[in-house]
Amino acid sequence: MRPAPQITLNNGVEMPIFGLGTWKMSDGTQCYEAVRRALDIGYRLIDTATLYGNERSVGKAVRESGVPREEIFVTTKLWPTDFFSPEKAFEASFERLAIEYVDLYLVHWPIPLIPHSVWFAMEKLYESKRVRAIGVSNYHIGDIEKLLEYAHVVPAVNQVKFSPFDYEEEVLKCCRSHCIRLEAYSPLTRGAHLDDAVVAAIAKKHRKTPAQIMIRWCIEHEVAVIPKSSSPRHLAENAEVFDFSLDGEDMQTLNALS
Ligand code: NDP
Repeated sequence: MRPAPQITLNNGVEMPIFGLGTWKMSDGTQCYEAVRRALDIGYRLIDTATLYGNERSVGKAVRESGVPREEIFVTTKLWPTDFFSPEKAFEASFERLAIEYVDLYLVHWPIPLIPHSVWFAMEKLYESKRVRAIGVSNYHIGDIEKLLEYAHVVPAVNQVKFSPFDYEEEVLKCCRSHCIRLEAYSPLTRGAHLDDAVVAAIAKKHRKTPAQIMIRWCIEHEVAVIPKSSSPRHLAENAEVFDFSLDGEDMQTLNALS
């Protein structure tokens, strides 16, 4: 694959615009092999979470890949059951990953009950330099605005469901206006819309696959994107998105699918 361009987060940290999601990859051989293969192909961003139960395999694959640690960007997340002890939860993730530092640590879901203390704990982790950037996930406009009322550190990233079929332009605009990078999860709609006729027509025009069109659509929006695959064929296919671009008409058509 051609190397994925980097995007600059609001604290100056560089993050690849493209990477691998690992939800539903079981800990052990499946996750280890997918991450190793992805890193061999040229993926440089790996997204995991406490919830996925595969941080050990992600960390092992990163350590054994032969790729210098500083070239790989690893994200993990704080799960709501750990909101009363974020520091302890981070220590546990850190121990499972065993990769010297975490590049991005996200609050997995908005927290209605104890928001301040969780974000302040995230800020402390960031200050400790064991985490290069902190952010949130599944935050809607109201959640972001509330957080910004008391945050000392503006989240670097908001990871949300984002695809031509889940296009929330207002969330994208809100994040942009606060210098928060959007990161797209479920960019392939977990396979639900890969046979859509409109996407298929655009894919045919560019001699690409529907999955490549949906990934490229995120990149054209300057949104980082983390398709999941444990299939060697799909891992390779999903990475071939840097040798073409979508034009204005393609983008308008895809934007309207949501
Ligand atoms: P995706 O939209 O990435 O879809 C993954 C599914 O698509 C898998 O079944 C995969 O199967 C299949 N697939 C992958 N590539 C292709 C292809 N080229 N052609 C056909 N099928 C393909 O869904 P996810 O929900 O997994 O989202 C991606 C990542 O985002 C997650 O893995 C996770 O890291 C993150 N995420 C974050 C959430 C959050 O709350 N912050 C919530 C959900 C996800 P196969 O493996 O066989 O290729």
